[in-house]
Amino acid sequence: MKRVIVLGATGSIGVQALKVIAASPDLYVAGLSCDRSVALLLEQAISLRVNDVAVADERAAATIPGALYPELSVRAGSGAAARLVREVDADLVLNAIVGFAGLESTLAALECGRALALANKESLVCAGSLVTELAARQGVEILPVDSEHSALYQLVGAAGPRAVDSLVITASGGPFRGWDPARLTAVTREQALAHPTWSMGEKITIDSATLMNKGLEVIEAHHLFGLAYDRIEVVVHPQSLVHALVRMVDGALLAHLGVADMRVPIAYALHHPERATVAVERLDLSGGISLDFAAPDEETFPAIGLARAAGAKGDAATCALNAANEVAVRSFLKGDLPFLGISQVVRKIVEASEAGSFGTYAEAVAVDEQARGAAVAVCVEVANARMDCSD
Ligand code: MG
Repeated sequence: MKRVIVLGATGSIGVQALKVIAASPDLYVAGLSCDRSVALLLEQAISLRVNDVAVADERAAATIPGALYPELSVRAGSGAAARLVREVDADLVLNAIVGFAGLESTLAALECGRALALANKESLVCAGSLVTELAARQGVEILPVDSEHSALYQLVGAAGPRAVDSLVITASGGPFRGWDPARLTAVTREQALAHPTWSMGEKITIDSATLMNKGLEVIEAHHLFGLAYDRIEVVVHPQSLVHALVRMVDGALLAHLGVADMRVPIAYALHHPERATVAVERLDLSGGISLDFAAPDEETFPAIGLARAAGAKGDAATCALNAANEVAVRSFLKGDLPFLGISQVVRKIVEASEAGSFGTYAEAVAVDEQARGAAVAVCVEVANARMDCSD
């Protein structure tokens, strides 16, 4: 039996992970965490008989009725998920927390030498060197849960790293593929949340619409596979059937295909090094499927270029980029910032960011907080500038 701690259990990845675990007799849940969705967390804990949970939001944690499940031990507050990782015995931690908030738990899992299935790409975006160096020191392999990186992990593993020339990450292009900037100025929250091929949480769906998700994924791939940024390519592939490709040194291309269903990469990471049966739709090759590829429109969607520029500076800049993006996306979802303002805010923060990497978690926290503060101010500036223009 593999004991799994699921962090971010009430989010899209967490809920799907619990389905994968429920269908696997050799996996069981040892701990659960959430940000503030305590009603769902409690339901999960009761049905899976999990006694150890963590809730990041203290006020939400205080609303859990103790009488409903007396055995339940609730850790509450901002460091609660990392405490859960340290205190509860487990073989594997699935980190599906959204945003910078997931970094502390990633470091805790690695410090404890627990296998890490990583859906929190921000851990690598914000402190990639710190995370990968700690993983190497502890002899822990990071198993990516991001669909593209799971595909790359399998392809690079099959080919052997020395045979790899470069990596190709596919992008669906999001709901606004082919749109020009004039049309994008009036984009609403609902339009941006309607992703054509993947069903995901709100933050990552907006990141897919701006292509920032691909920007973050380029940084993630750089750290996971140790390849320079100019050896990581992004192509738009609207069908979302090819999840990634690897160019070999001899000119061959290996591709990873399958239906767009996150249970596949989740199950791969949870069962690694075994492969388990997953009850997903099989890709029907007799139906005349077509596979289209094109270069992303980086002029209209500058996020990938911004990520590369930040990556060239180092972890402090990619951490700042992530902080600015988190702030800007939240502001857009609240209706305060226009859609095109997201990349404008990120650009200003990346341009002002410093070069260099982190030696400690505290340094990453300091850069994250500073960049968030600056991004809040830039959001107001960008939103006001837009109002001036429309007057
Ligand atoms: Mg992805």
